[in-house]
Amino acid sequence: MLLIAHGGAGSKRPSITALKKIREAIKYGYSILAGRGSALTAVIETIAVLEDSGLFNAGIGANLQLDGVRRVDAAVMEGGRCEAGSVIGLEGYKNPIRAAGVVMESHHKILTNIGARVLSSAYGLDLMPELDDKSIKRLKRLKAGEHELVEIFKKHFSTVGALALDRDGDLAAGSSTGGVALMLPGRVGDTPIIGAGIYADNASGAVACTGRGEDIIRVCLAKEVAMRMRESAPAASARASLRKILSIGGEAGLIAIKRTGAFAIMHTTAYMACGYANKKEVVVKDGFTKVN
Ligand code: ASP
Repeated sequence: MLLIAHGGAGSKRPSITALKKIREAIKYGYSILAGRGSALTAVIETIAVLEDSGLFNAGIGANLQLDGVRRVDAAVMEGGRCEAGSVIGLEGYKNPIRAAGVVMESHHKILTNIGARVLSSAYGLDLMPELDDKSIKRLKRLKAGEHELVEIFKKHFSTVGALALDRDGDLAAGSSTGGVALMLPGRVGDTPIIGAGIYADNASGAVACTGRGEDIIRVCLAKEVAMRMRESAPAASARASLRKILSIGGEAGLIAIKRTGAFAIMHTTAYMACGYANKKEVVVKDGFTKVN
């Protein structure tokens, strides 16, 4: 059994508070696996802890788009059934990762705001708290300092993601985001795009990405790593795929696991808030293997 979770890759050192929260989420997710829960449940619940914290660009901490609206994206995928669910531009829900799980069990794979809200309401999912003063101030600051923030857009990411391998050998992947800074209304990144932001197939492996979605989409990064993992180890697969991202001028980080339990945590950025738990240890750090 193995659980990995991240809180984004970037050029800024993650705070101790963020790393502590990742540790808490990982321990919680691992306890689900240890209690015979499925990889899918562990991934959803781990991500929900991070969404609820407000410390990451996901759930209640998600970025606002430039019209002041918080539109969030999330996706889940289960490796045993190759089932996937995704929500795009969801407004007003606290845990988009749960909404993605609900979509997965419907006969659709991706729903945008309206459809995802109807379905999520039917399942009684919690609503997002109203925009607070802090968010409104943050938006004003964003608009005022547009030029400096272009650098943040290029280099700082705090999407959350998780992967799990359960007792039965099933894999699952999930990711949840509020996008990037300075987004035009309606902008969609890699996170809810199956094969770009996440992928899971027991036959190849599970992957979750973070970074500049515009570049991750061009490479279909998660699927690219998963396909490589059919023949190679997670580390070699991740490295080759991240070099492709660098070659197109992108920045990204990713987590990848195979059914054997082999895994990789790699990033092109200086930092990546991430950690894992297995039966021996819980490890959380502000960076793992950097790819140049
Ligand atoms: N990949 C996300 C996006 O482009 C951002 C992130 O990883 O923080 O929407």
